[in-house]
Amino acid sequence: MTAALRADVRPSTLVTGCHVFDSVHDGVLRDAAVLVGDDGRILAVGPEPQVRADVARGPAGDTVREIDLGGAHVMAGLVNMHTHFSLSLPGAAGDEIMAMGPYALALYMADGARRTLLSGVTTVRCVAEKDHSELDLRRAVDAGRVPGPRIFTAGRALVCTGGHGHDSPDTLECDGADGFTRGVRLQVKVGADLVKVMISGGIAGEHEQISTPQLTRDEMAAVIGTAHAWGRKVTAHAGPASVIAEAVELGLDCVEHGYQLTDEVAAAMAAAGTALVPTLVVTRCAAFFDSLGVPAWMQQRSLDAGPRHVESYRLALAAGVSVMLGSDMPPFWPFEGTSATVRELEHMAALGAGHGLDAPAALRAATVVPARWLGADGDVGSVTPGRFADLVATDDDPTADVSALRGIRWVMKGGTVVRDDRAGYGHPDHAA
Ligand SMILES: [Zn+2]
Repeated sequence: MTAALRADVRPSTLVTGCHVFDSVHDGVLRDAAVLVGDDGRILAVGPEPQVRADVARGPAGDTVREIDLGGAHVMAGLVNMHTHFSLSLPGAAGDEIMAMGPYALALYMADGARRTLLSGVTTVRCVAEKDHSELDLRRAVDAGRVPGPRIFTAGRALVCTGGHGHDSPDTLECDGADGFTRGVRLQVKVGADLVKVMISGGIAGEHEQISTPQLTRDEMAAVIGTAHAWGRKVTAHAGPASVIAEAVELGLDCVEHGYQLTDEVAAAMAAAGTALVPTLVVTRCAAFFDSLGVPAWMQQRSLDAGPRHVESYRLALAAGVSVMLGSDMPPFWPFEGTSATVRELEHMAALGAGHGLDAPAALRAATVVPARWLGADGDVGSVTPGRFADLVATDDDPTADVSALRGIRWVMKGGTVVRDDRAGYGHPDHAA
């Protein structure tokens, strides 16, 4: 697990006093150290004496700053694959966000980005944000004006007229193959990394059912074909098995929610390499919906979908579909004593235990597996040389129980420590 130092980079930070789960190997490397270069990327990971020897041999051995984590468990920062910083669900809290002007919304989203990073989520995949606001947010984060995670985005999600989520500027209504082709091109034009399309109804749509198919075959083929031609993957909000089966056949890369999978469609997804972001938390959050003032019909639909949703998730695991962490909610939202992200990972681990997803596999579903889907595993998703030092630290061992992540107390992004509870800064619940 140790790589030689690269002579052309001056090492700047040595993280010691830690046990490392690197997302690649199964076990935990105990009493380890992580050496981070001044470009924010990992230079070496290994047993502490060995990494110290690397440092001593290095050309800039005495300029290394040392951070002793005091016996913490360290792993890669979390990658949340289904997020919305500008989400407005039906109900009072959502109405307030819908009523925000562009400046208020930008500030609201910047606050969300900051809290997201501090909660240990160092990379997100946005799958529908209002008016392309997240592209300016990403520019601000990348320029260092606002703290936040690394952002990959779909831009606005494509829907048919009146389709799922049509009543918010985080979607774009399209009709017909030409309309959807143009929809894809418009997202690529503004900087989208991927394309999101709503191919069935969902929980939050008043005039539809989860099972309502919403695109014609031609429309789905236009979305997937155009996106692929431009080198963008496609993920689809989708519930029913028949709709998903058709989209998988057309080359779909990822399914969001997948409320009603069957054996057959799960097998087809596994064979085609189509991933699943189950977002289990959206069908098991009654108290949370209450707090947002979400209407009764939506709560009922959410909870009613729960048992079938779990069955779907387990069918996917059994078939060998690759599953990935995604909260649907803004990643940092306080949720049953932790963040929506960690709560979702707890659901994935608890409901996947005995069905092919042990704790280390759940951690991989929250790090390296999404990084690969994004084509970003050379940059993020593992604690290995060459990747950005996007790290989180906990006192307990997350490979024994993912609930250890409730105790994230230290976060590093690209070699910079952004949260250190022991030093008293960076807690996500505190105002900026
Ligand atoms: Zn969503």
